[in-house]
Amino acid sequence: MKSAMITKLKYNKINIVNKAHGSWSYAIAEFYLCRSCNIVDQNKERHNVGYICSDCGQAGDGAYHYFHMGILNVINLIQKLYFMQGKDSDDSYKAFILISFCTLGEMLLDNFLTILMIAEKIPKSVQDRLLNDHRYPKQRIMKLFLAVVSVSWKDALSSINNDDVDYSAVSDFYIEAYEERNNFIHKGDKYGITADIIDKCINHIQPLLHMFAELHNAYVYPAFSKHKKV
Ligand SMILES: [Zn+2]
Repeated sequence: MKSAMITKLKYNKINIVNKAHGSWSYAIAEFYLCRSCNIVDQNKERHNVGYICSDCGQAGDGAYHYFHMGILNVINLIQKLYFMQGKDSDDSYKAFILISFCTLGEMLLDNFLTILMIAEKIPKSVQDRLLNDHRYPKQRIMKLFLAVVSVSWKDALSSINNDDVDYSAVSDFYIEAYEERNNFIHKGDKYGITADIIDKCINHIQPLLHMFAELHNAYVYPAFSKHKKV
């Protein structure tokens, strides 16, 4: 097992709003997982059976997507909703985009934390209890993440921030969007769902995906390695 520093993922910003054709998930959510060492990268060569992982040196048995099908489906649903705008005077697509974007964030967080707890060898019954006790995104990032890895979410984001993306700002926007979603769901306040917040939701899909892939390599991958060596 190589112990060298993990190479940061490449961030090529893609303007998905210009992509009416071809799925957004294909354009921005192609991340692969090595089933031997659990590193996540964007290397399409992992599709080739027998591809040798540059990190652990093991041969792969075909591409294994890091983001599961449910996540890809929600991204493609947001794409469909986005291109509904302008087709009639109804602006209800905005509420659906906001709700779908927040659902995407919840799924990404759930996916990340679940794999993290598996990597940390936390028993399934305890995983379920922890997730049940921390149902909301803010609780999960502020308390559950800290409880599992003993690092604050703020410090974790600082450690993955780079010149391309300010992940602290990405996370802050997600929480802001989630609060706006709650205003709509619980109070029926649709006036807070502005065109600006919808544009920001669309522009934050790609950085949100990268954030969880980077967090995986920073916290999940080392946890798997640590337990393998024991
Ligand atoms: Zn590997």
